[in-house]
Amino acid sequence: MPHTSTIIYFDIAAVVIMLISLASLLLRGLTKGAANRVYLSAMVLVTLTACAALAGEIYDAIIGPSLVQYGPYVSEGTRIARTGVAMFYYALRSLTAPAYLVLIATISETSHKLNSNNLVRAVLWLPMIAILLLILTNPLHHLVFEFVDGVLVRKPLLMILYVGAVYYSIIGIAWLIRWRALLSTNEFVTLMMLYPIMLAETVIQYFVPELRLDMFVTSVVMLLVSAFAIHPETRHDNTVDAESLHSYHEMCSHAFATDKPLCLVYIEIVNMERLRELAGQMELQGIVRQVSKNLAARLERDDVLYYLRNGVFCISAHNLDPARAEEIAWAAHNEGRAASNAPHARFSIIRMRSCVVRVPEDAPDVETLRNLGRRLSHLVPGSTVTTFTELAKRDDFKLQMNLANILTRAIENRSFEVYYQPICHLADGRFHTAEALVRLNDPELGWVSPSLFIPEAENNGTIIAIGSILLEKICAFLGSVDFEGTGLEYVEVNLSVEQCVRPETVDEVLGLLEKNGVDPSHVNLEITETAATYSQKVIEENVRKLVGAGVAVSLDDYGTGYSNIARMLSMPFSLVKLDQSFVQHLDDPATRKVLADTIATTKAIGKATLMEGVETREQVEALQEMGVDYIQGYYYAKPMPEADFLAFLKEHNA
Ligand code: C2E
Ligand code: MG
Ligand code: MG
Repeated sequence: MPHTSTIIYFDIAAVVIMLISLASLLLRGLTKGAANRVYLSAMVLVTLTACAALAGEIYDAIIGPSLVQYGPYVSEGTRIARTGVAMFYYALRSLTAPAYLVLIATISETSHKLNSNNLVRAVLWLPMIAILLLILTNPLHHLVFEFVDGVLVRKPLLMILYVGAVYYSIIGIAWLIRWRALLSTNEFVTLMMLYPIMLAETVIQYFVPELRLDMFVTSVVMLLVSAFAIHPETRHDNTVDAESLHSYHEMCSHAFATDKPLCLVYIEIVNMERLRELAGQMELQGIVRQVSKNLAARLERDDVLYYLRNGVFCISAHNLDPARAEEIAWAAHNEGRAASNAPHARFSIIRMRSCVVRVPEDAPDVETLRNLGRRLSHLVPGSTVTTFTELAKRDDFKLQMNLANILTRAIENRSFEVYYQPICHLADGRFHTAEALVRLNDPELGWVSPSLFIPEAENNGTIIAIGSILLEKICAFLGSVDFEGTGLEYVEVNLSVEQCVRPETVDEVLGLLEKNGVDPSHVNLEITETAATYSQKVIEENVRKLVGAGVAVSLDDYGTGYSNIARMLSMPFSLVKLDQSFVQHLDDPATRKVLADTIATTKAIGKATLMEGVETREQVEALQEMGVDYIQGYYYAKPMPEADFLAFLKEHNA
């Protein structure tokens, strides 16, 4: 019967929605990466289906009815065209539910499970192939539909399409439930909701057949998937044309949850900073993109390239053979050198380091992988190729990999200790001041150097908690009777960059001083030169507030960073601590000249000078000649626990 009352506006809307979404995906370049590619293919499938549906509807609603009156005279061409469109539509339609299943598997990173063995393959794909064959062979048997007197007539076996949709929906729902843990709540709810939506649409369609809702609903469903489950823009890092850090994190956790054996090759550009200095930020990006391109050229079918930022890449492959992984690592290494001929890299050799890791043999859990990604630059020396097995032999391996845990444990137990290093005032040879330095003795791994854990604590934010613990301990000492008898003027306390840029730090320091009854003049806070180059406004404000409250502030490690004399002049530092590197090169006439000038200038603007890291008598004499006020170093004393420090002062200041 002719469908004169068919409402085709929904199909028109579906085609428009799909074309706009497709264009938007393509224009934004969101076509890279497994999930985006599968999503894009599904979009193309739905768009073609919607076009076929619309073509069919237009025929049935407009052309068909006018032809029917000529009945037997409908041309052969019209017949072939209409059946062709119908066959095309039904074939594509039968692929929608399986495509949806593939989409779910891709989003949950379980697509390898779709092909895990022959039985799974047969259960998953044979029904789809059978239905497709049935539709494509319809001209031979006309069991699915037939064109009779200018009208398309549905035959009983068309039911097979619905049976297929139900079959794949059940598998899809089961898949979602099985891998629930691998999906965020948003992803899970969105993907799950689509089934009742599609069911409702089918029911409506059954009762109101002239309402052609199906393609419209499907296209809206695709938009929902894009908005809540795929986030195409978070999956791929377009700046370097590799999968994003977000995708890498997902891949890691999913690999463990699904027992997916993996071989990972971590590749890092070692000299990022140097390249940035030489070439500038823009050119550096070109270099990173070039490296990414070179790496991508090495990928085979199942390999994926991720960019983890700061010049670190990771290639992952399902069942990648470690020998080939090492080949990739070496190739990356050599290409880095060769890429020095590339237009972007005319500035310097690109140095690379890489490490091959097998999952789960090497890294039994996600945490190990994450730590490895983060600590790679500390673990792999220079620009070399190595394997996880090699790294695991290093003495400090356990320490490096457990740094975050060590810090958490130490914060929980407040087990940081404070050591004090006496500082000599050259004018009278006495020790009026000292520097408080943190020490950490882990119950399992022993002493951990602050130069190792302070940077990590700054990166992961625990430095704030550590800073508070230290400040409390130091203030407790400064407020004790022990301190009163020492004759010390003040103690230098290191502030980390993170503490410096926090507006709350000032109140915390002043609050602790008050609580412990410590005179503000007994504390001198050290701000490193590198800290002073960050967020100038907040730091300047903090320094002024502290100085205003009577707490002096010194500039630590002067001579290593980039801050200029003007900057140093503009801040109310009372003491400038010259960096140890000056002492190490004291034999060099140029260094001596720079140092002498720096000391003279600093003194000329009314600030005291201190030299750190002094170990020999000759160094002391040379520095005395240049007019340094204070000296801190092993020559006089190493940092020591509170009790030893008190004994030292008693002996030397008597
Ligand atoms: P810094 O503030 O420049 O501290 C001076 C460092 O030089 C200390 O290392 C000290 O032990 C070491 N040193 C002193 N005299 C000599 C010497 O004659 N020769 C040599 N080779 N080294 C000497 P330490 O204690 O390992 O601390 C390293 C860095 O860690 C510190 O450098 C500071 O930046 C940071 N740090 C230490 N304690 C704290 C703290 O309580 N809070 C914060 N935020 N950072 C800290
Ligand atoms: Mg210091
Ligand atoms: Mg220093």
